[in-house]
Amino acid sequence: MQEFTKFPTKTGRRSLSRSISQSSTDSYSSAASYTDSSDDEVSPREKQQTNSKGSSNFCVKNIKQAEFGRREIEIAEQDMSALISLRKRAQGEKPLAGAKIVGCTHITAQTAVLIETLCALGAQCRWSACNIYSTQNEVAAALAEAGVAVFAWKGESEDDFWWCIDRCVNIDGWQANMILDDGGDLTHWVYKKYPNVFKKIRGIVEESVTGVHRLYQLSKAGKLCVPAMNVNDSVTKQKFDNLYCCRESILDGLKRTTDVMFGGKQVVVCGYGEVGKGCCAALKALGAIVYVTEIDPICALQACMDGFRVVKLSEVIRQVDVVITCTGNKNVVTREHLDRMKNSCIVCNMGHSNTEIDVTSLRTPELTWERVRSQVDHVIWPDGKRVVLLAEGRLLNLSCSTVPTFVLSITATTQALALIELYNAPEGRYKQDVYLLPKKMDEYVASLHLPSFDAHLTELTDDQAKYLGLNKNGPFKPNYYRY
Ligand code: NAD
Repeated sequence: MQEFTKFPTKTGRRSLSRSISQSSTDSYSSAASYTDSSDDEVSPREKQQTNSKGSSNFCVKNIKQAEFGRREIEIAEQDMSALISLRKRAQGEKPLAGAKIVGCTHITAQTAVLIETLCALGAQCRWSACNIYSTQNEVAAALAEAGVAVFAWKGESEDDFWWCIDRCVNIDGWQANMILDDGGDLTHWVYKKYPNVFKKIRGIVEESVTGVHRLYQLSKAGKLCVPAMNVNDSVTKQKFDNLYCCRESILDGLKRTTDVMFGGKQVVVCGYGEVGKGCCAALKALGAIVYVTEIDPICALQACMDGFRVVKLSEVIRQVDVVITCTGNKNVVTREHLDRMKNSCIVCNMGHSNTEIDVTSLRTPELTWERVRSQVDHVIWPDGKRVVLLAEGRLLNLSCSTVPTFVLSITATTQALALIELYNAPEGRYKQDVYLLPKKMDEYVASLHLPSFDAHLTELTDDQAKYLGLNKNGPFKPNYYRY
């Protein structure tokens, strides 16, 4: 499909787990390594492995790591109580009985909790990874040991990546009827290789900005042949994952890689959307002097009202200590900017793809690259000036930090509900188009997470409900409400 010809780089995708950051080659980080032993270089595709029940319906790095992975999943479960509560509430009813879900997401302890929830609700699952680096091998092993057909390992080649997806889709005697995708690669593969599979598919649930964008393109071209749910734009995803996740992980990523102290440092954040707002709030709280660049007057005004100076990048580029991009755009930081930065300036990206900083422009003969730590390069100018480039311009938190489990619980619960809704929707409720999760379900996801904070909602009186024209049980806001 033409709409699918441009793949984003798999390394550019958003991360979900702490494991992602803890590359086995990361000699610096003090956090535990969650990865395989490096003495085992045999490709999982070459290995014959069976789980304790004798099944070999999986391909992971090392099935023997299953016990370790199980512990990781149990730790994640502790901070995903809402998803576990959904599992408990619905496992009697089995709303996904008969569902055959083929999934392609990061394979981490947190997504394992989602996958096992889907299985507990009656689904059969086959799973591959949406990112060649993000798989927690021990978690994949634990899933395989539990009977999930998982095909993924950390450090897949491009060929492995598509092979794993293919093994999930192309199997005798099993045909998927639901897709859960993060990035659109699985959906693309099915469109390209097995279009007949769509005859049985009841719906696609897509998490990422990129994947959603592709679905809308397909829909616009009249080529979307099943209903799709855009989870990315659910309020409980966008307003929580993008904002709070980045608010927590930006400092983690910067600290782990550079040991930088933020108090009094001058930082410029490019883009004041959800991600930029999270980054700015965290940096301000630690006493950094924060500048914002924006193209949109509304976001710029928000930044002003929040107490940030809105500037052009060129105005502050000589003086800042840290530059962070989070625009979703390209070439926001150019070679010209990089040339003008001061010595030791740290440059990193929190946006989806690695296009925001023009890293390619730094690959010129007069500049020397020195890898000083895992994910940290010093780019050295002829006069000795060094710019500290993190993760080669890829997502900082994908590459260098952990992401809070609790936030992932919110996104995972949204995904589970979207699957339940699409799978059980009566004929005709959803057409061949892209939908947002119904508002009531968004509210339900939020309400499931309130007990973690011992938060108590106020109930509308009958009189108040009538006055506001609302149902006492929600939805409480119209679709156009912006939160
Ligand atoms: P958003 O659309 O809310 O914000 C992006 C902002 O950047 C907008 O306000 C836009 O006006 C501004 N912008 C665009 N081009 C610009 C430029 N040249 N200079 C200055 N500002 C510019 O999007 P968001 O939800 O904040 O997401 C931003 C990016 O981060 C996306 O690529 C998204 O996929 C990614 N993301 C990352 C994470 C993560 O964990 N790191 C999480 C969610 C989303």
